[in-house]
Amino acid sequence: MKIKVLLIALFIGCFGYSQNEEITSQLYETYEKYKEKSLDKRRIKHHQLQPLLAQLESNSKFTVQVVGQSIEGRNLSLVSIGQGETDIFLWSQMHGNEPTATQAIFDILNFFASDDFKEEKQALLNNLTIHFLPMLNPDGAERFQRRNVLGVDINRDALRLQSPESQTLKRVRDSLDADFGFNLHDQSTYYNAERTEKPATISYLAPAYNYEKEINEKRGNAMKVIVFMNNIIQRYAPGQVGRYNDDFEPRAFGDNIQKWGTSTILIESGGFTNDIEKQEIRKLNYVSILSAIYTIAK
Ligand SMILES: [Zn+2]
Repeated sequence: MKIKVLLIALFIGCFGYSQNEEITSQLYETYEKYKEKSLDKRRIKHHQLQPLLAQLESNSKFTVQVVGQSIEGRNLSLVSIGQGETDIFLWSQMHGNEPTATQAIFDILNFFASDDFKEEKQALLNNLTIHFLPMLNPDGAERFQRRNVLGVDINRDALRLQSPESQTLKRVRDSLDADFGFNLHDQSTYYNAERTEKPATISYLAPAYNYEKEINEKRGNAMKVIVFMNNIIQRYAPGQVGRYNDDFEPRAFGDNIQKWGTSTILIESGGFTNDIEKQEIRKLNYVSILSAIYTIAK
């Protein structure tokens, strides 16, 4: 992907920051308790997710549905939790070699499966229904490659819908018509935050929905969530947040999902010093996504 990382400083604000500061610190400090230990290496595969999904399926808090299959017949599963009117949809690893957020999703699911933070979670799940579609490209994950097994870049297939994985993403998006969407990727660990020596640990983008890069209410809401997440990450990885180029890409899913009416946030996990397995970035994904969910609920 052609990218240009810029400082997000442009967007710095104080969107609901202080009130959520405490919950964020608590999430950061208690993380190890919820980290899914069976996914401790970067290269994860579809078969590793199946016992975790089976466990969620046996838990009455969650609904697990098979919503599609990859070309090689691997199930694509959607996990949902909550009873609220606001829908949040998160999907990860449409590029098979970008597994960081898939791991973070299972950490987040462990958090929801636990009995801790009862009050906070109850308030959250009264307002929200949260849907997770982890590892959208399991055949690519099997080979640790970007594209699917037909050589299609799923993120350039939002309009042609040539691949079953793309068709599944589109169908689930349309059926949920979610208020917020999180499009979760990894980027090279070698990109730097613009004009600095520091790695871009996390990059954010509220993708454009037209060539004019206009900002409507939906895109504006995505930007507000990004401002909030940026404030969190700056605490743990100061100066290491990047912003993607927001040129409209008519074939990309993020841009189209924004256009179809879901406030969409792209998160790219990059590099962090001495973090080859990207486990620290995984933790930052966990903390910032959960905090963002919390602030959307409020
Ligand atoms: Zn990607």
